[in-house]
Amino acid sequence: MSVRFTITCDRMSPHGGCPSQIVIDARTIDDAYIAAEAQGWQINEVPDHCPCCVNGPETTP
Ligand SMILES: [Zn+2]
Repeated sequence: MSVRFTITCDRMSPHGGCPSQIVIDARTIDDAYIAAEAQGWQINEVPDHCPCCVNGPETTP
């Protein structure tokens, strides 16, 4: 039995927040975080960042 967790990217920019999110079915939020990290998400350090924001520059056009 699992629960559906939605993890959203917390990066903010002058144009608004990053719309990226990931939905993971897991038993616990910890398991969801592990699965998200396996896909490149940075979860351990708040705020959460999607793979794009982790690797990309913090600048905006
Ligand atoms: Zn992001």
